[in-house]
Parts: sequence; structure tokens; C-alpha cells
Amino acid sequence: MMTTTRLNRAAVVEHPHSYRPRTVGGKGRISVRDMDIVFATTNGPHLAVEDASLEIQPGEFVSLLGPSGCGKSTLMNSVAGFVKPARGEVLLDGQAVAKPGPDRGMVFQQHSLFPWKTVKQNVAFGPLMAGVSSREADSVASTFLSLVGLSRYANAYPSTLSGGMQQRVGIARALANYPSVLLMDEPFGALDAQTRSMMQENLLEIWSEFKNTVLFVTHDIDEAVFLSDRIVVMSASPGRIIADIPVRLPRPRTQELLTTAAFMVVKRECLALIREQTLRAFEQQNQAS
Ligand code: ADP
Repeated sequence: MMTTTRLNRAAVVEHPHSYRPRTVGGKGRISVRDMDIVFATTNGPHLAVEDASLEIQPGEFVSLLGPSGCGKSTLMNSVAGFVKPARGEVLLDGQAVAKPGPDRGMVFQQHSLFPWKTVKQNVAFGPLMAGVSSREADSVASTFLSLVGLSRYANAYPSTLSGGMQQRVGIARALANYPSVLLMDEPFGALDAQTRSMMQENLLEIWSEFKNTVLFVTHDIDEAVFLSDRIVVMSASPGRIIADIPVRLPRPRTQELLTTAAFMVVKRECLALIREQTLRAFEQQNQAS
């Protein structure tokens, strides 16, 4: 059964530890400038992202929204350091991104936990790789598991947990390196609607505590509006940034927001843009088949 507790704010105090390699505050500025991303395919070069430019301030929560296959994950992967631009550049706090690093925590849709490690070992992995002692890594893992309400499952294996709980472990694992940036690629996409909405609220609570910069990929309009400070809308392939919509809805946000008139105004704006791009994506697929 899925259990979702409120964020345990006392966790960090309950489990004091010395491992605090970096402060999150004030860091995590992302700059994407004039970026093209091209993949080599058997049919020749494939332009996945075209001329993307984007500035994200430290502590901002920005969603990338667009139809399936438009290049959202590819753009995010360039910030992660997994994909290199063919043109343009990606900077994190003014430094060119060359490879993945512990300053960027990643949360994927699923299958991102090590199945052969316990929940706690999964969360302790990052700090251990960063060179902290196993005692400290254990303490950090306890802190973050407590924060996401999963202390009781520390010694369980991921496969014995529900999808929502596994994602909470994934978030704890990403946070355990105190990243200035959280990169989240449809992290709740595989969850049922009820679990998903609870996870969204939990994520906002965690974010308000840590103030990481969040780049969140989704094709779900409600999710993007509910979570974000800004929504960056991408066109059908090749992915271009076609709109940057500020979401000036009050925080803290709870699910009641979804039925308000103010929410609907932003949602309608996104819906119109997405419908147009989804139609374009359909047409492209029809032409290709
Ligand atoms: P989205 O996240 O919006 O669903 P993606 O970023 O995953 O879209 O993909 C954008 C486009 O790039 C798609 O056409 C996809 O098939 C292509 N693509 C993604 N990764 C690769 C790759 N490693 N090699 C070749 N093509 C890729």
C-alpha cells in the first residue's frame, strides 16, 4: 500500500552530520545559449533541439513542456552533461557543462535505483562516491530517508516498494549530494493519479526547504502549471522553445489550486500551444510512415 507522509522537516536536525560539501543557496544558475543538438542516426543526422536559449535563476522551478519526442529529455540531458551540443553552450553558474557531476541530481521516471542495494545503500551511494566516510554516508542517507518519510524501509530492497515509494527514494538519493540543481525527467509519469498528486505536493515541500534549481520535464499540463514558476514550451521536432510562460500563482500550493480560475487561465494558455504542437507532431509521424 502506498503511504505518503508529510515532509519531515525535523529530519535534518534529528540526524546531524558533518557532511555538507556545498550550500545550495544562491547556486544553480543554468544558461543554455543558441544550442543545437544533433544525433547521428542510420538515416543521417537528426536535429533534436534547434536554437534553444534559456536562462534559469538559482532556486527557480522551471518545467519543460511539449509533445512526446520534441526534445525535452535531450535538452535536459545537455544540462546533465550526458549530451553535447553541436552548436551553442550550456553553463552552470558560469562554467561550461562538460560532464555529469554531483552538483546536478537526476530523478528519472523509473528503473533508476540499484535493485541489488537496499534503500539506504541507494541513498548513501552518492556521498560514498563523493569520498565521505561510510559512517557519514550512512548518516546522510538516514537524514534524507527520514525527510521523505521512508526511514522504516531503510533495509528493504527497491523491488519490495510501491512505485511512489521508489520515486521518493530516488528523490532522497538525488538530494543526498546537496545538488544545486535537480533534473527531473517525468519522475511521476508512471504513477497513478492519486499518488502522483501527493508526490507533487511532497516535491514542492522539499523544494521550498532546499531551494534547488529544478528543471522538470513533463508532457502533463496540470503538473507543469501546479509545480512551476515558469513553463518553457517546446515545439514538435525539431524542438525549439516557442513560449516561456510565467506562473504567478501563490505558494505554498496544494491540489485545491487546480480548480481555481487563476489556474485555468495559465492552463488554457499552455493547452492551446500544446494542442498545436501535438497536431504538428502527428502530421510529421503520418508523413514519415
Ligand atoms: P521528449 O523528451 O520530448 O519525448 P527526446 O528528447 O527523448 O524527446 O527525443 C527528441 C528526439 O531525439 C526524438 O526524435 C528522439 O527519437 C531523438 N533521440 C533522442 N535520443 C536519441 C539518441 N541517443 N540517438 C538518436 N536519436 C535520439
